[in-house]
Amino acid sequence: MLLPNTHVPGTRTPPTRMTAARYLKLRRKAAGLTRYDLARRLSMTPGALINLRRAWVVLGQLELPNATAKHPALIDAIAEFIPLDVAIYHQLANDPVDRHPTVCLACGCSAEDPCTGASGICTLERGTCTRCQSGAAQ
Ligand SMILES: [Zn+2]
Ligand SMILES: [Zn+2]
Repeated sequence: MLLPNTHVPGTRTPPTRMTAARYLKLRRKAAGLTRYDLARRLSMTPGALINLRRAWVVLGQLELPNATAKHPALIDAIAEFIPLDVAIYHQLANDPVDRHPTVCLACGCSAEDPCTGASGICTLERGTCTRCQSGAAQ
């Protein structure tokens, strides 16, 4: 068996930078919801300010690269249905990159919303979490 000594520094392309839009999309997927599923839930909450058609359109806009929410209340509402940390969303949307929170680049989990599974709670190492590194999140 070969020793795992084949890593050459600098040959791997750096992971993509996390954005608010990407974070939202990854968290929706982590919840197992399609954009339509989430739009439906948003439009069906008591006192919902948004109808299904509008919710679907707005969610699509929010998931466009570099999009950020213009109405914080919408992110609050979304966070009721998916494991999205509102503070992290706004940090990614508004803060300079060097102050961004640590979020898994593959699934969007964080210390506040870790993945849970048979092997317990994930931890973040070098950009992605232990669950994504083990391939369990595919
Ligand atoms: Zn992950
Ligand atoms: Zn994780």
